[in-house]
Amino acid sequence: MNLFGLLSIFQRVRARARVCPVCGHRQVVSEERRAQAVRCDKCGAAIPPGAKQT
Ligand SMILES: [Zn+2]
Repeated sequence: MNLFGLLSIFQRVRARARVCPVCGHRQVVSEERRAQAVRCDKCGAAIPPGAKQT
């Protein structure tokens, strides 16, 4: 795999990651749940769809 392939995978994963506003845990959100609030794996808090995406 070349560098561009690696980079595009990295960017795709980053785009789906959400940061928990309570504990700061970074969590990958599936494409289907992108518009919904998800539950943090670590602390159980709801992470709204508008949460910071890094
Ligand atoms: Zn959390």
